[in-house]
Amino acid sequence: MKIKSTALSLILMAFTMMVLTSCKDKKAEPKSETHEELHASTAYQCPMDCEDGKTFDEPGTCPVCKMDLQELK
Ligand SMILES: [Zn+2]
Repeated sequence: MKIKSTALSLILMAFTMMVLTSCKDKKAEPKSETHEELHASTAYQCPMDCEDGKTFDEPGTCPVCKMDLQELK
């Protein structure tokens, strides 16, 4: 009986480890979301400032002069 309970606790431990590992994997997902939020909060602006300080959420080109937008810091 004692051996059986030891084996059971080992299985429980392994199961707990699995749950903890999967929890860690789930925690990694919000991290990437936070990174996306950070990325979205970054503003981009035309280096020539064609549109009076208008900023863009994503990198790209200015619709007026077609120059590459610069990241605002
Ligand atoms: Zn421009």
